[in-house]
Amino acid sequence: MQSQPMIILGEDSQRMKDKDAQSHNISAARAVAESVKSTLGPKGMDKMLVSSIGDVTVTNDGVTILTEMDIDNPTAEMIVEVAETQEDEAGDGTTTAVAIAGELLKNAEDLLEQDIHPTSIIRGFHLGSERAREEVGNVAVEVDPEDEEILKSVAETSMTGKGAELNRDVLVDLVVRAVQSVTVEADDGSYITDLEFLDIETQTGRSVSESELLEGAVVDKDPVHSDMPTDVEDAGVLLLDTAIEVEEAEADAQLNLDSPDQLQEFIEQEEQQLKDMVEDIADTGANVVFCQKGIDDMAQHYLAKEGILAVRRVKKSDIEFLSELLETRIVSDFDSISADDVASGRVTRDETDELFYVEGEDGHGATLLLRGSTDHVVDELERGINDALDVVSSTVADGRVLPGGGAIEVELADRVRDYADSVEGREQLAVEAFADSLELVPRVLAENAGLDSIDTLVDLRAAHEDGDEHAGLNVYSGDVVDTFEASVVEPAHAKQQAIASASEAANLVLKIDDIIAAGDLSTSGGDEEEGGAPGGGMGGGMGGMGGGMGGMM
Ligand code: ADP
Ligand code: MG
Repeated sequence: MQSQPMIILGEDSQRMKDKDAQSHNISAARAVAESVKSTLGPKGMDKMLVSSIGDVTVTNDGVTILTEMDIDNPTAEMIVEVAETQEDEAGDGTTTAVAIAGELLKNAEDLLEQDIHPTSIIRGFHLGSERAREEVGNVAVEVDPEDEEILKSVAETSMTGKGAELNRDVLVDLVVRAVQSVTVEADDGSYITDLEFLDIETQTGRSVSESELLEGAVVDKDPVHSDMPTDVEDAGVLLLDTAIEVEEAEADAQLNLDSPDQLQEFIEQEEQQLKDMVEDIADTGANVVFCQKGIDDMAQHYLAKEGILAVRRVKKSDIEFLSELLETRIVSDFDSISADDVASGRVTRDETDELFYVEGEDGHGATLLLRGSTDHVVDELERGINDALDVVSSTVADGRVLPGGGAIEVELADRVRDYADSVEGREQLAVEAFADSLELVPRVLAENAGLDSIDTLVDLRAAHEDGDEHAGLNVYSGDVVDTFEASVVEPAHAKQQAIASASEAANLVLKIDDIIAAGDLSTSGGDEEEGGAPGGGMGGGMGGMGGGMGGMM
């Protein structure tokens, strides 16, 4: 009954199976991990990303690098998702997660070469990951969520390397105070932080050390009219996301007028409409209006006459934050406007006449105003601060920290290796490989600091074998130190998440033994990577990565 093999794929489709598929995928995934490794840790370097329209981002932040890079390879995208998951779940540790995923795949490749079946590797990685996460719980140190010193250490560890070094003390203090300002203690004694009540604003042209934490919100705009009040102690605030303008006629509409009177009538009609709108506003009792859209010149004049402070083209995110802060809705049409939409608070102008400060009645909500000389400086600072805010609030909620500087990874590797002895069969090798993969973190931290990574790892392992669980790398001196004494600590939750997402992604890649692509898979087919593929087209691994990143690496 032998017959011709049945052809079920289109002419242009490509197919790759078993070892070829695996090594193709592993190469692609590893290439992604390689691209962020050099940024890990306080001594990591930055990357310059140039988008296709020429926008420049200078950053050290793993998830930013990967999402801005124009990656066009399905396997590589799976690794980018690791960074995105880590960012969503923990807010920090994105480079770590991606680098560990890459190392797991590298070690998996060695095991595959020894003819160990992918299923055994997957199972071993899964066991290793579960054990490592469990051991995080055993190594973690409980801290008092009100202990400012420990919170500052967590913030500092997360921020180093993110352009925050020079003003570290100022920023660390701001981050901790910012988190505390939006944290409440629940009845059961736990702490709840809601970062929704914290807004981050940036302003260029001043020094980073002039950054500050303010009660309430900041609106970086001017009043629309010079006759308007700028300080309103007893403010009734209205938030609008509709324009105070008469709807524009279609661009090409023509107005057919028979007489000058008709023109006059038309203008008066428009004026009346604007007057009505302002009256609607005044009737609510509002004396401050923040409008997301435009305000007509004539309306500006009427508003000023009513003594109402009006601000136009306020950023959407600012309006949304104000709505949260003042606990009031955003009005989008004049028909539904009422006195209930007016929120009481206080609006004041800053001394340099650039910003409005807006405070609600109950004092809930705060703004972190970050300042810096240029956009690039402020943007990178904001990313670093965002990471730090996340890890500090997670520490407040979770109350557990770990030794940083590679200490936790070496300790976990040690414990997972011990555990491997109890694992039967070929899985044991995979569990051991999992342990080795964790040690990538101290190795790369050392490498990025210009230190010998093998020597460093030997020293760290020796310290941990002597029972020193907190022994980590001081990247500045190259010494093995007690990381708690050196204030290098990380939240436990983020590390557990990093381990989980790294091993899940690695296993996802390993499970694939067949790639069927409709059409030509590769965009450029560069063949530098190992694992050359039949047909040539798919061998390039990261073939499509070149596109949007002209200035990088
Ligand atoms: P990620 O994106 O994974 O957070 P980072 O570039 O922020 O990557 O680097 C985090 C790593 O740097 C962690 O392992 C942390 O313990 C380590 N680290 C931070 N500060 C120090 C320090 N002062 N000395 C040694 N290691 C540090
Ligand atoms: Mg970090």
